[in-house]
Amino acid sequence: MIEYRNLRVALLGAGSVGAQVASLLQKHGDELAQRSGAGLELVGVAVRDVDAPRTADIPRDLLTTDAEGLIVGADIVIELMGGLEPARSYILKALSSGADVITANKALLATHGPELFEAAEQVGAQLYYEAAVAAAIPIIRPLRDSLAGDRIKRIMGIVNGTTNFILDRMDTSGDSLESALATATELGYAEADPTADIEGYDAAQKAAILASLAFHTTVPIDRVYREGITKVTAAQVDAARAAGYVVKLLAIAERVTDRESGTEGVSARVYPALVPRSHPLAAVHGAKNAVFIEAEAAGDLMFYGAGAGGIETASAVLGDLVSAARRHVIGGPGVAESTHADLPVFPISSVTTRYQISLRVVDQPGVLAAIATLFSEHSVSIETVEQSVVGPDPVTGETEGAPGATLVIGTHEASEADLSATVLAIDASGVVSSVTSVLRVEGSE
Ligand code: NAP
Repeated sequence: MIEYRNLRVALLGAGSVGAQVASLLQKHGDELAQRSGAGLELVGVAVRDVDAPRTADIPRDLLTTDAEGLIVGADIVIELMGGLEPARSYILKALSSGADVITANKALLATHGPELFEAAEQVGAQLYYEAAVAAAIPIIRPLRDSLAGDRIKRIMGIVNGTTNFILDRMDTSGDSLESALATATELGYAEADPTADIEGYDAAQKAAILASLAFHTTVPIDRVYREGITKVTAAQVDAARAAGYVVKLLAIAERVTDRESGTEGVSARVYPALVPRSHPLAAVHGAKNAVFIEAEAAGDLMFYGAGAGGIETASAVLGDLVSAARRHVIGGPGVAESTHADLPVFPISSVTTRYQISLRVVDQPGVLAAIATLFSEHSVSIETVEQSVVGPDPVTGETEGAPGATLVIGTHEASEADLSATVLAIDASGVVSSVTSVLRVEGSE
């Protein structure tokens, strides 16, 4: 029998993910040792309450409330507590003592990533975080290693399962947002307080991590533009379906060139967008996640799978554990996070994309010409115009007031700044009764 060098593994947290990590590590320890070339000894599991019920069997004598004590002497520390503090302090303590750290904590990485990566680099340790974006889906390592020789143009991700479940439900069952959210809560896809998901905070954290990694640039969370799904209506989803689109909450990280200065930079943003039904992301249903990458040499790639779940996330954590153990066996310093490009992070106003705007208009001659003039005056070029028959507004369902028609205008690529100015001008012009919907269109047919 091969004698492996033993690595001491400390686990901080035994909740949904941590309990599964502890359980799988005990179950498959021998196999993981063979893959790593090192024995992986779980020396302890830090929790808040050692007597709380666990979702997996963890020997009672491994549980402790002394996280700090557990970190001392560990070769690898796995942080699965969540939250900013004390997770940040524990990780800094572990790194400063030379341990490699594995975390799934996207909130912490999006907020304090540079500080943690710097701490790891100082001592030649490594911080692994495959599970922090899209859980079970391998996306960090492909970006960091497999695509390190390519240039990424754009990443579009469905990285929040709760909102994808809700929008998919609205699309397939015609539910309202409220009703779809209630179903998501009932089925355990939404938390009691769903704010982080439906307001796009969770997706924004992941957008910051993906953009930083893809463009070798630190993208702080406060530079990620964010809109959640709370304003998406059932009527908008219906109208999208009729026009060949589906509404998805996208986290987008893109290499962009500023029109005025010609400078290359990065845009990171989260919003609900219309995705053509023929695009691979349109086929991502329920609470599943997917990340679509457009790379200069590799072309289009898509990574798909479970974006949450205890055991699914544990798979990514254990993958990191094997990588960390192999590195310990080989020796040498960890690979530092690459931020060499240091590109500027542009605001949403610099972004160019296509739009679909729905306008409620009084059905009389000259209105379309007046609207077309306003678009042209603001340098927004119209690609398609569709006028619905006189009747209820297909977006709001409104039937009251003067008889009117709905114009649905699709634009060519336009800047956010120009589009916003156009919408303001149309609103103020008096030629439309109301602007009922403005949605960005992302992804080619
Ligand atoms: P969780 O179920 O809330 O579990 C948290 C665990 O940490 C609990 O065992 C808790 O102890 C322990 N803990 C919290 N504060 C502590 C402290 N101060 N000292 C010691 N232990 C402490 O969380 P989770 O869902 O497993 O998520 C863990 C991490 O994975 C988070 O960063 C999350 O964002 C990330 N993640 C989760 C998923 C998922 O599907 N759940 C997916 C991707 C990423 P007690 O049990 O005693 O309360």
